[in-house]
Amino acid sequence: MNIAESHDTRLSLHEQAVRQFHEAADIMDLNPDFRVILEHPKNEVIVNFPVRMDSGEYRSFRGYRIQHNNLLGPYKGGMRFSPHVDLDEVKALATWMTWKSALCDIPFGGGKGGIAFDPRDHSRTELERIVRRFTHALGANIGPDHDIPAPDLGSNAQSMVWMMDTFANSTASANRQSVKGVVTGKPIESGGSLGREKATGQGVLFAFQHWCDETNTDLAGLRVAIQGFGNVGSNVGRIFEVYGATVVAVADHTGAVINNDGLSAFDLADHVVDTGGVAGFAGATEASNDDFWAADVDVLVPAALENQITMDNVDSIQAKLIIEAANGPTTPAAELRFLENGGEVLPDILVNAGGVVVSYFEWLQNKSSQPWALDVVDNKLRETLLAASDRTVLAKGNYGCTRRQAAYVVALDKLERVYDQRGIFP
Ligand code: GLU
Repeated sequence: MNIAESHDTRLSLHEQAVRQFHEAADIMDLNPDFRVILEHPKNEVIVNFPVRMDSGEYRSFRGYRIQHNNLLGPYKGGMRFSPHVDLDEVKALATWMTWKSALCDIPFGGGKGGIAFDPRDHSRTELERIVRRFTHALGANIGPDHDIPAPDLGSNAQSMVWMMDTFANSTASANRQSVKGVVTGKPIESGGSLGREKATGQGVLFAFQHWCDETNTDLAGLRVAIQGFGNVGSNVGRIFEVYGATVVAVADHTGAVINNDGLSAFDLADHVVDTGGVAGFAGATEASNDDFWAADVDVLVPAALENQITMDNVDSIQAKLIIEAANGPTTPAAELRFLENGGEVLPDILVNAGGVVVSYFEWLQNKSSQPWALDVVDNKLRETLLAASDRTVLAKGNYGCTRRQAAYVVALDKLERVYDQRGIFP
């Protein structure tokens, strides 16, 4: 096994995140005092809480909220509901949220949480009790100016409104109206923002368009493979299709489908809503996972879980560009190999920041009790992501580093300047 391969399997997700951080900190010579602060999360909250199942029996669940950093603003990040959730995973995801907010210049810190369970195993009434009891267990660890959850894998707008309502009901009645912003990604009627649901996919498009301009590439006609067809993947597919790209291959937990002439992302999204996955889609042929990774495409968009592009499949990838719509989909060793093979990676903290950026817009709308029109949201998201992309390209040139390292350098530079100004207490 060579060094790259041993790194690929040896590091946990949080260790990967810390390694990426140190690499960038070395490149920009980050003040060692701030390095020790940013290396680890500030707070790690773990709650075990009982919930009554529909059968009448009690079950205990384990939930997490990791608060990585709040120098620039309240801790901010999603709540993941998945059997894979554990302390290491949420620590990595919380760390990445700090860099995402700093890179995009929004006044938030980084946090992440979740519950280790499969929401698909539960009725709606059980889900509601699980989410409400989790929110109650977190208590004052969350708050509209303290720590603001949002949807992530396995959670959605309905989970967020249950969280908001539970939090509001634990708040003195005179202050209830002011706590709407305790979560973002809510349904529109309950204080959500237009454009939030598709925001991550929309942001992926803006970051991709920026890369197309930079590299003189025509987006129309590019062939695309997408891994994961939930909220993020299905919006990426539909939005890319509107801009003339051809979606050729899609994979999810139910299997993979390929149509070399192009499939309809809109029809596939309907099929996934009806059946729960891409398997059985009439507009394409079922394929193996290996065929999916080796699909004849220009662009690969991982939009599911972390650690999907590894030393095991990286050499089979035909795409020349990986757009990381998911968090942490490429292992450090696989990224290195892909770059050596002549490929390019648009890094997660830049590419998928559209979700948290529009969460910020939702939070502003809640604070001012004033809804924004969809085109205002989309235009501001576009401006924000193009500016973050500009900063990343500039740093890449200045430091002669990879695009991921450049995005980190921009984020760390911002945090360093604020720590420099504020110092630490006492
Ligand atoms: N869960 C999303 C992410 O990983 C959105 C977070 C948010 O809106 O706070 O970026």
